[in-house]
Amino acid sequence: MGIVLNEVKKHYQMGGEMVAALDGISLEIKKGEFVAIMGPSGSGKSTMMNILGCLDRPSSGSYLLDGREVATLNDDQLAKTRNQRIGFVFQNFNLLSRVSAWDNVALPLVYAKVDGRERLDRAAAMLDSVGLNSRKNHLPNELSGGQRQRVAIARALINDPSIIMADEPTGNLDSRSSIEIMKLFSTLYQQGRTVILVTHEPDIAAYARRAITVRDGLIISDKVKELDDV
Ligand code: ADP
Ligand code: ADP
Repeated sequence: MGIVLNEVKKHYQMGGEMVAALDGISLEIKKGEFVAIMGPSGSGKSTMMNILGCLDRPSSGSYLLDGREVATLNDDQLAKTRNQRIGFVFQNFNLLSRVSAWDNVALPLVYAKVDGRERLDRAAAMLDSVGLNSRKNHLPNELSGGQRQRVAIARALINDPSIIMADEPTGNLDSRSSIEIMKLFSTLYQQGRTVILVTHEPDIAAYARRAITVRDGLIISDKVKELDDV
């Protein structure tokens, strides 16, 4: 169970030239790990997240997710795998601005065809679990950045995914809210979920148990933190 990448490459055609965004990534992430992916701009972090998150496929190589090969899935199969197994959190929160926190969190359950009453109950419980019980009926712009990100995390969790993927989740937050959000990710990790986040901030990566650094489409370092470093 977990993630196994074997010699994953991703090429883009740029004019006449081929750009290797990923140049042969081999990697195993076990169920329940807390991993930070680091590296300078243009190093391949987003491309790697897109592939790990089943938003895109490798040009070559293998990706086993919970024992199933996803590199060769068609678009529908890829979307289904993504919706069932992965929750996404973004730098810009990606909330619908015209509907309440409650409806934002319940939205993935509409696509999963869960009925109305159960949707609202589950979304309320999820907002409770991220400490936003008293903000359910607020619109995103009536919430602070940290609260908006907690709404987004509740939404990411609503289908009970085994993996949470976050791309610069604290990039638009002040340092106090960033700490709160990282504590929330730590709690998800302690609950046994796999948490994978992209960040270029060492202070944020320090919350993870393992730090993978990429450069020019290759992994240049992969370090697991000793238990007594915490
Ligand atoms: P990072 O997230 O680390 O900034 P990216 O994965 O976005 O890096 O990009 C890695 C390399 O691949 C860069 O050279 C980038 O310009 C290129 N790249 C990424 N996506 C595309 C695309 N859709 N088309 C062409 N080139 C791309
Ligand atoms: P990040 O801030 O996460 O590094 P980027 O600005 O590098 O994000 O990329 C944002 C999106 O644009 C990504 O999905 C990436 O694949 C795509 N992208 C990056 N570089 C290029 C490019 N040269 N041409 C087309 N798309 C690109």
